[in-house]
Amino acid sequence: MAGEPQDDCLFCKIVAKEIPATVVRETETTLAFRDINPQAPTHVLVIPKAHYADAAALAAGDPAAAADVLREAGEVAAQEGADSYRIVFNTGAGAGQTVFHTHAHVLGGRGLQWPPG
Ligand code: 5GP
Ligand code: ZN
Repeated sequence: MAGEPQDDCLFCKIVAKEIPATVVRETETTLAFRDINPQAPTHVLVIPKAHYADAAALAAGDPAAAADVLREAGEVAAQEGADSYRIVFNTGAGAGQTVFHTHAHVLGGRGLQWPPG
């Protein structure tokens, strides 16, 4: 069923605390934790606790949780003291998505080039 935990999903395992993560914020519906391979001084992943493969699936299946993820991404940036930052949802393998549980990358703490490449 949509949103249910998936046995083979890394981020569902982090939500279930079966795999450790450095959590920086948590709400009833979201979890924010540091990326294991940071690409900037601030690199935090914000995920819905419910399993949806990508941002569009989340927005379609649980719009309130999608809004929660966006709000929490802003809260993470504020908590980290990043006044300029980027929120990225890689969607599809061709765009660099490697974990198919929706996650917002919150990147900040250094200059960010545009376009990103
Ligand atoms: P994607 O490439 O799917 O947009 O992003 C997946 C992100 O998850 C990558 O930036 C990667 O470094 C991060 N990641 C992969 N495995 C783990 C893990 O076990 N723990 C944490 N904290 N981050 C992970
Ligand atoms: Zn999952």
